[in-house]
Amino acid sequence: MRSTREELPVARRLSRPSKRRELPIAPVVLSTALALGGGLAALFLFQEQLQQRFWGPPPVAGISARPDFQGRLLGHFPYGEVKASNLVDLAPGLQLDSEAATAFEEMRSAAAADGVQLRVISAFRPIAMQKEIFFGVKSERNQSAEERARVSAPPGYSEHSTGLAMDLGDDSLPQTNLSESFEGTPAFYWLQNNAHRFHYQLSFAKGNRQGVSYEPWHWRYEGSAQALQQFEAAHRFNQSRGPF
Ligand SMILES: [Zn+2]
Repeated sequence: MRSTREELPVARRLSRPSKRRELPIAPVVLSTALALGGGLAALFLFQEQLQQRFWGPPPVAGISARPDFQGRLLGHFPYGEVKASNLVDLAPGLQLDSEAATAFEEMRSAAAADGVQLRVISAFRPIAMQKEIFFGVKSERNQSAEERARVSAPPGYSEHSTGLAMDLGDDSLPQTNLSESFEGTPAFYWLQNNAHRFHYQLSFAKGNRQGVSYEPWHWRYEGSAQALQQFEAAHRFNQSRGPF
C-alpha cells in the first residue's frame, strides 16, 4: 500500500506540511519598546557626555563643561545682565534692580522695627565681575571649575547679574557673613519668617536639586513679572521631582 505522502506531487512533498504560523506580535512589540526605552534611558543617562562630545563650543571660556538640557551649566541656570537703567543705588557700590530695591528697603525697615539689622554684603554683580570672582577664587583655592561651581556661579550663570539677588548678613554678627553659620543668626530667622512678605526667597536651600551648596545668605526677589520670568526655570526645577 502506498503511503499518503507518496501520493503527493513532488513539489508538495518538499514543502513542509506545517501549520500556518502566526506572527508573534506581542513579543515583537515588547522587544521594540524595550529597545526604544533602553535607548532613551541611555540618552538621558549620558546626556552630558553626548553634549560635551557633539554639541557647540563651551559657553564659558575656561570651563570645558557644556549646558545640559535645561540650559544649566554645572548646576547653575543662565542669566543675562540687567539693563544699567534699571539699577538703583542701595549704598555706595551696591546696586539692585529698582523694584527689588524698593521691596528690600521695606523689608529692611520691617526687620529693623523687629530689632534685626540686615546688612547687604553683595547685590548686583556684572558678568565681568562674576568672571573675576569665579576664576580668581578658583585659582586661589586650586579648585577645578566643577568644584568651584558648587560655591560660586560661573559668569553668565549668576543670579547676581540680574540685579534681583543679594547676599545678606546680620549687622550684629559680621563673623557669620557668607558662612553657613548665618543660619543661626536672628537675621536669618527673621528672613525665614518674613522675607516672603516682601517677595524675597532663599535661592539655594539645603539639599537643593541644582546641586549648589547651601547659601542661607543668598536671597532673590520674585515680586515683579520680570523677576518671575527670570527665575521660572529655576523655580520649576527645584520644585519638581525626579533625577533630572
Ligand atoms: Zn549670592
